[in-house]
Amino acid sequence: MTKRDYYEILGVSREMGADELKKAYRQKAMEYHPDRNPEDGGAEEKFKEAAEAYEVLKDPQTRQIYDTYGHEGLKGAGIHEFTGFDDVFSSFSDIFENFFGFGTGRRARSRPQARPGNDLRYDLNITLEDAAFGRDEEIEIERYENCIQCKATGIEPGTEPETCNTCGGHGQVTQQRSFLTISTTCPSCRGRGRIIRNPCTGCRGAGKVMRSKKVKVKIPAGVDEGMRLRVSGEGEEGDRGAPTGDLYVFLHMEQHPFFVREEDDLICQIPISFSQAALGEEIEIPTLDSSQSIKIPGGTQTGGKSRIKGAGIPHLRRNGSGDLFVQFIVKTPTKLTRRQEELLREFAEEEEKHHKDKAKNRKKKREKLSSQANYGRPPVWMRIKRKRDLP
Ligand SMILES: [Zn+2]
Ligand SMILES: [Zn+2]
Repeated sequence: MTKRDYYEILGVSREMGADELKKAYRQKAMEYHPDRNPEDGGAEEKFKEAAEAYEVLKDPQTRQIYDTYGHEGLKGAGIHEFTGFDDVFSSFSDIFENFFGFGTGRRARSRPQARPGNDLRYDLNITLEDAAFGRDEEIEIERYENCIQCKATGIEPGTEPETCNTCGGHGQVTQQRSFLTISTTCPSCRGRGRIIRNPCTGCRGAGKVMRSKKVKVKIPAGVDEGMRLRVSGEGEEGDRGAPTGDLYVFLHMEQHPFFVREEDDLICQIPISFSQAALGEEIEIPTLDSSQSIKIPGGTQTGGKSRIKGAGIPHLRRNGSGDLFVQFIVKTPTKLTRRQEELLREFAEEEEKHHKDKAKNRKKKREKLSSQANYGRPPVWMRIKRKRDLP
């Protein structure tokens, strides 16, 4: 298939300046835009053809080569072959976004050369209270952004890259060795055909600069250790037209001095006195945001638990919350006042007496039962045996 003349494609004369060229291309792009030609399969070919023509002619270097040698001269110069609509949109995204107001919704992923931005990771420590109630956090991240000064080209504004002398702008060098002609990528310009003599002073030619940025992160209630939050589009910027990366905030739970978390339940230990454990009492215990009264049941043992429903951590992505478990630890008094000691000794005597009475009662009961057993009733083992013998 023979290629059409680039000037003819865009409908411009050979003397056309850069501004008119852009205008002419915009007009052609409008004409063959997919939104205006939803059914027409031929429109895509025309759309790509116009894009290629514009790409060659907008660059003075390639335009000059084309003017002098025609299509032949551009072989090996790295002229981009557009694969489809999306490819064109990503290459000339500035034109489409600024002038048409459409084309922005298309994801520019199809062009392999346009690399998407890197995702970033940020580690954030949060408290148990943050996990329980959620929090809006502002974090500061460091990331590479496209250099504004050179529009990420790496070329100092006002200067032009020079055509490579080694390869004459073709990007390839050919060597004659006896009968063979060997083509290799130009070592001076690494195949680009151009050499940047004046790298951008803003980014030292890299096209990107490190900047710090403040990003707002919403921590929802119910998050837990090791979870990550995705902040869409806050990663590093990609090449022109390629999507920006995402920021991932990894959450780490700080230890709480009082509460231990188990899934969405909270556990805490409350020391209680010997008398509180024995007699029971209503006490006030701290919760994550305030306090709550809770009843110690009489006769509580060390390790005994009480549950406050719904006072734990809210479930993530569903209704309801975990519970708060209060574990009682009975503290034995170590220092006693004289009066306390007196009372406890009295208590101990009473305890001993009580034990002896109980033992006596048990003995009496046993004797009574065995005396009854001797009157007419067969012993227990015989009764069982008889039952088993029944057919
Ligand atoms: Zn720069
Ligand atoms: Zn070269």
